[in-house]
Amino acid sequence: MNALLNDIIKSCAHYTEEGAVANYIPELAKADPSKFGIYVLTHFGQQFSAGDCNAEFTMQSVIKPLILLMALFDSGIQAVHDLVGVEATGKPFDAFNYSDQALTSANINPMINTGSIALCTLIKGDTYRDKFDRLLEFTRKIAANPNMDIDEAVYASEKATGNKNRALGYMLKAYGMINDNIEDVVDCYFRACSVKATCADLARIASVFSNKGKDILTGEQLFDPKYCKYVNAILMTCGMYDGSGEFALRVGFPAKSGVGGGIMGVVPGKMGIGVFSPALDCKGNSLAGVNALEILSRELDLSVFL
Ligand code: GLN
Repeated sequence: MNALLNDIIKSCAHYTEEGAVANYIPELAKADPSKFGIYVLTHFGQQFSAGDCNAEFTMQSVIKPLILLMALFDSGIQAVHDLVGVEATGKPFDAFNYSDQALTSANINPMINTGSIALCTLIKGDTYRDKFDRLLEFTRKIAANPNMDIDEAVYASEKATGNKNRALGYMLKAYGMINDNIEDVVDCYFRACSVKATCADLARIASVFSNKGKDILTGEQLFDPKYCKYVNAILMTCGMYDGSGEFALRVGFPAKSGVGGGIMGVVPGKMGIGVFSPALDCKGNSLAGVNALEILSRELDLSVFL
């Protein structure tokens, strides 16, 4: 397996030169596009890796399944489904999307920015700082890494330039979907996007999602299987934004990408995968990462569609 992963890193390395690092968040433009790593944790507890698997990057949208999970955990399925729907938008992750559709819960999902910002309101906590702290604690627990924390420079950069996300927050408020102070809500979202991780962290988190909410290595049940099923279904249909359909065809398992270059792949009943390469395709998904997952899926027969 390590040999397969090394081969994949070698054969996909050229994609790291073909994609482009995100630059709309200035701090992300500093990422080294040549970095490329992969980590696998199987249901037998075996761990395999290749490339720059210890490199740190910010989770960005890979935190969205954790925000969704925390909202489910704190507020229940009904409240989550009432606020944020489950249908793919077919539009970019930061699209305003409302030229031909009303902004209603039915027209957003938890994996686009609008939906994820809205879900921050369903996390419990007296202040938005408390909500974020609970989210971070939960993320650390699922990743089994108590040292996870935010990248202060990326957080400051997102906060300074994230006016589109603020605008999405104000749209939600204008349409009566959320009531809280938007600066506070988006601050929680900016902090969440800025949490640092490695491929190993993403693989560990993904492995829990692949195992009905149970940690493979400790056997601890971390959250209810019904929430796990909910998150995985949404990852399958919306996890790779408007590239989710193509990803389902080429790779065929639930996954979540982020503009930091990370992707977590959830292979139900089999394994969790973390891959990282910051050069992105035009949809904002790691170009080398998606190609690596495609080969791994083909070689190990991982598509849930058989
Ligand atoms: N922080 C980023 C943003 O809100 C996350 C987007 C992403 O990873 N696709 O724009």
